[in-house]
Amino acid sequence: MSFDLVLFGGTGDLAWRKLMPALFQAFRHGNLPADGRIVGVARDDLSDEAYRNLIRSRFDQVELSKRPRAEEFDRFASLLHYLRMDLSRPQDYERLQQLLHERQADTVVMYLATAPNLFTAVCEQLAAAGLNTPRIRLVLEKPLGHDLESNRAINRAVRSALDERQIFRIDHYLGKPSVQNLFALRFGNALFEPLWRREHIANIQITIAEDLGVEKRGAFYDNTGALRDMVQNHALQLLCALAMEPPIDAHADAIRDEKLKVLRSLKRWTPPAMDQHAIRGQYAGGRIGGEPVRSYREEPGVSPESRTETFVALRAEIANWRWAGVPFYIRTGKRLAARDAHIVVNFRQTPHPIYAVPVGAANKLVINLQPRDGLELHLLAQAENSRHAARSPIPVLAPVHLNLDFTQRFGSERVGAYERLLLDVIDGRLNLFVRSDEQEEAWRWVEPLLHHWSRDANGLRPYAAGTWGPSASSAMIARDGFCWSEEC
Ligand code: NAP
Repeated sequence: MSFDLVLFGGTGDLAWRKLMPALFQAFRHGNLPADGRIVGVARDDLSDEAYRNLIRSRFDQVELSKRPRAEEFDRFASLLHYLRMDLSRPQDYERLQQLLHERQADTVVMYLATAPNLFTAVCEQLAAAGLNTPRIRLVLEKPLGHDLESNRAINRAVRSALDERQIFRIDHYLGKPSVQNLFALRFGNALFEPLWRREHIANIQITIAEDLGVEKRGAFYDNTGALRDMVQNHALQLLCALAMEPPIDAHADAIRDEKLKVLRSLKRWTPPAMDQHAIRGQYAGGRIGGEPVRSYREEPGVSPESRTETFVALRAEIANWRWAGVPFYIRTGKRLAARDAHIVVNFRQTPHPIYAVPVGAANKLVINLQPRDGLELHLLAQAENSRHAARSPIPVLAPVHLNLDFTQRFGSERVGAYERLLLDVIDGRLNLFVRSDEQEEAWRWVEPLLHHWSRDANGLRPYAAGTWGPSASSAMIARDGFCWSEEC
């Protein structure tokens, strides 16, 4: 199968930091179809050779194990081409049309790795140039809008040019191996599904913590905040994967129908819930890895009076028979104590204790997403060799865990998130991509919070960089009698 992959924004940060390394890994693993061409598009005046040299030089900043050797890069570089284009100029699309026409690849993937304010114009111009044929697949990166209305405007523009089956809205969390294994665990095994409900699960926690600040993206982030940047998309997609019903089959729409039902079942925000179950914070100065770091308001590009949240903790509930009454806690933020993304499914305690167990001990399933990935099942087992156990009148249990280490089982050359998703686009598999109605429903759920926070000047809580966020986040979960995973 032949393909053309056109990277709009081919010289940008996303292209060289994530997409090129992922494409190279796919090439190195032999997963990229042989007859391919990758065309970087931007406004700089570059030859193919200059573009290859630019990408080669950028690989120096990629982690060592993912860097190509010289001869490997030379072979990969033969796929790379460059097209100078200003995406806001209609006449420039003719050159793109010629370039694609001369080869007639079976599949043409267009990846919009550019600012979202170009999305509408690009779609209009692709249609005007006759570049919206059935062999085209369009990949859209976040942020897809700033609120429900702007998201719908983008979706309208994209759908007026292409069919929904040609649109690949990327959420790279869905490409993570652990998330795919969450689907496999739930729907490929009989063991968990009977337990996967309110009768057996006490609460579920989703944490996406970063120790980095806003880096060079201060101006962008200050207009965005953690709720739009992380919750509306990544965290809610994870919540869907955890809470959805088994789909009728493994096809994209069967999966997406079930995710949509979860989003529609999320309890709507009431004024008291917005105050008690939605905590927002902003990092003050502090220490990360022993080094002092500045506050958010001192970051380049950020307003010194900014009220943008860099931390969010939410308590969500899903109003259906499976999940009624089970809290789903979502927490994400910048400049937190660690770079750590994980999900904890906390099972209920045994109904009647006959063993001595550590306080609060119960079974839990931990799904690690970042920096490690894998699943851990925490159980309790008979404690042996302990003096306390030997003397105790009742048997004593101690925590143990089963570590499902996929790297050990499936090898170190496992497919990373962007690699997986790019290969899926080339192959036309939509399972791990987000449909427009899911995205709109997610915006509908977060929007009341955005409105409330824009009017409420007092709810923003400072937290010291290098901690787990404002203490109100721990207080929120403690009111239900639970604690965040690192506190228990
Ligand atoms: P960036 O570094 O500013 O790159 C933007 C790219 O678009 C450059 O190649 C730029 O090249 C090109 N471009 C801009 N205007 C153009 C025009 N009129 N015609 C043709 N090319 C144009 O931005 P980025 O960080 O890569 O981000 C791109 C998008 O992905 C943004 O929407 C961002 O929010 C999203 N995103 C980024 C990341 C990330 O890790 N960086 C992660 C997730 C999502 P020229 O200026 O030379 O034309």
